[in-house]
Amino acid sequence: MNSIDTEYIRAHPRSREMAVEQAGLLPDGVAHDCRFVVPFPIFIDHAEGARKWDVDGNEYVCMAMGHGSLILGHAHPDVQRAITAAAGNGCGFGLSTEVEWQLAELIRQAFPSIELLRMVNSGTEAVMSAIRLARGYTGRTKVVMFEGCYHGHSDALLAKAGSGLNTFSLPPSHGVPPPVTAETLVGRYNDLESVEKLSRTYGEQIAGILVEPVAGNMGVVGPAEGFLAGLRALCDRIGALLIFDEVITGFRIAWGGAQERFGLSADLTILGKIIGGGLPVGAFGGRREIMENLTPLGDVYQAGTLAGNPVVLSAGKTVLETLRDQNPYPQIERYAGELTEAILQAGRAASIPLQIGRVAGMFTLFFSDRPALDYVSAMTADAGRYGRFFRAMLQRGVLLPPSQWEASFLSIAHLQEDLLETTVARAKEALEALGADTDKVR
Ligand code: PMP
Repeated sequence: MNSIDTEYIRAHPRSREMAVEQAGLLPDGVAHDCRFVVPFPIFIDHAEGARKWDVDGNEYVCMAMGHGSLILGHAHPDVQRAITAAAGNGCGFGLSTEVEWQLAELIRQAFPSIELLRMVNSGTEAVMSAIRLARGYTGRTKVVMFEGCYHGHSDALLAKAGSGLNTFSLPPSHGVPPPVTAETLVGRYNDLESVEKLSRTYGEQIAGILVEPVAGNMGVVGPAEGFLAGLRALCDRIGALLIFDEVITGFRIAWGGAQERFGLSADLTILGKIIGGGLPVGAFGGRREIMENLTPLGDVYQAGTLAGNPVVLSAGKTVLETLRDQNPYPQIERYAGELTEAILQAGRAASIPLQIGRVAGMFTLFFSDRPALDYVSAMTADAGRYGRFFRAMLQRGVLLPPSQWEASFLSIAHLQEDLLETTVARAKEALEALGADTDKVR
């Protein structure tokens, strides 16, 4: 065991106990595989602004921000107030409320491509329902997604390219019967030709092309020049729907998400994370003539006991109003640029091969000598080294996402000079420690 691991174990005795206790009841003590850390996950007690405290009393600057759902920071007072006030009126009524319409209106202002919108409970659910809708609307069955992109854990989208792009995909998770992913085609992110090829074979059968406009689940990989516009043009040509999964990018990389940033319109848009202010949420929306196919207007079925929950939507409404009024995006982007440039310099000084994928305030460190431009190049990153960097940063009071394949996120609570300096200084130390630690001893 190396010194970084030894220190991790020393600093988290209560987390270690809880991990042992909880692993007897909760698989590996986590509710999401990306929260697991070798040798055990840490347990959080509370958080505020850009900071988090674990059950051992360690304080961290948080860069994980609730998997990207907290752009105003943890426990923002206005959001807390909105949640308390809404909950005071009742936690849910099984009927419509005004706040549902108010949040939908804010979303429509930010995303002109969304004419009608439906609220659900998670990103997974929103994608799943949007796919059903795309199939119902087009009368076609196949959906194109991209290797390395993640759209939640519904069966049909747990697909991975098989031996070739023209073959149907094989499910990488046990429990997913092969016929369920047989209608899912997998292209290569940032490779238009791979999608053209699929469309030459399956064109008339493709209901939609589903894409993370900025990939955030193979680490952050931005779209190559012309990639998204090429998908738009291809969809128009073959009569398929362009479905942007903006669960991460929506209200994150701009108020109007990737569609504003890249000047494109999707036919269907998936949202989640930020629009729930840290509470469970999802939504999907798009052109009226497509959305009108949903029940009760149309015959594509969709429903949910907790969908449109007023407590969740009140939190989301407060977040979106704050983002609209403050427009923090230029500041977050500048801050993220300075932070990542300083970390890159520290990597060079420590002679560690390091790349950073960044779009606006979301970024990922890849320990590699090749930039991550697609799934294959992202996979050249040394995830073991990232894990040690994660622990070395944790030891110095900075909490990154534990998984190499998730993004770090900044919030408005990070926008302080001293926090930038502290984080950079800690990253320098962590990279030096990483350079000194032997990579073979894990
Ligand atoms: N789409 C994208 C792009 C995501 O990043 C995620 C989750 N990280 C999802 C969908 C699924 O969302 P949820 O976890 O809320 O089901």
